[in-house]
Amino acid sequence: MTYKPKLLIVEDEQAILQGLMDVFVFHGYEVDSAMDGKQGLQKALNQVYDLILLDVMLPYIDGFTVCNRIREKDLQLPIIMLTAKTTEQDIITGLTLGADDYIGKPFSVRELVLRVESVLKRTMKRTKPTAVISVGNIRIDTANLKQMDTDRPQQFTRREIEILHYLQQHPERPVSRDELLEKVWGYRQPETIETRTVDIHIAKLRRKIEADSKQPKVLLTIRGEGYRLFSHESR
Ligand code: CA
Repeated sequence: MTYKPKLLIVEDEQAILQGLMDVFVFHGYEVDSAMDGKQGLQKALNQVYDLILLDVMLPYIDGFTVCNRIREKDLQLPIIMLTAKTTEQDIITGLTLGADDYIGKPFSVRELVLRVESVLKRTMKRTKPTAVISVGNIRIDTANLKQMDTDRPQQFTRREIEILHYLQQHPERPVSRDELLEKVWGYRQPETIETRTVDIHIAKLRRKIEADSKQPKVLLTIRGEGYRLFSHESR
């Protein structure tokens, strides 16, 4: 029932990548991977991860640039850089670009796992949703992304949980689409992004949490302003 942190590992050497994936799966992580900087960046910006392990020497876009681009969009996503380059200058470059930590190859697996744990311990406090979210009449187990107390539980996506979590943290006011895109999706300049993305997610969420998704009583639209969560948990 504990929360399974989700890692993205960006590494172009198949053997190292496979080794890392095995290790973190063994330690209870959910693991996704990318084998070049371009794919890594795309995944990092479009999906939700708790931490990224990022190699420096990568095809198409190097790890420093990937780190920099991620930081332009999302200040919170923890990044640990992995590299054969261990000169002081590289470490400084990585940390200046916003990496949370840095580990030189060859690294001991045990050390890497400990570093990941310690960065997560620091950062999950600010990003991790509470274990159970109550909205309307339903309770959601955010570790398993599933509705609780029912025989036929609704399944939620991580993004949906994050939307609910964010709205729940701001019960006193409507939250605009732009704000959701910025805070939940991590876009820094949300006006350039299709705001319909938000509407589509909201519509999907309503089908899961509302008795009648056409007449929402929980996930409310505040005209011209955004969305607000009404729940008996709200103060
Ligand atoms: Ca490499």
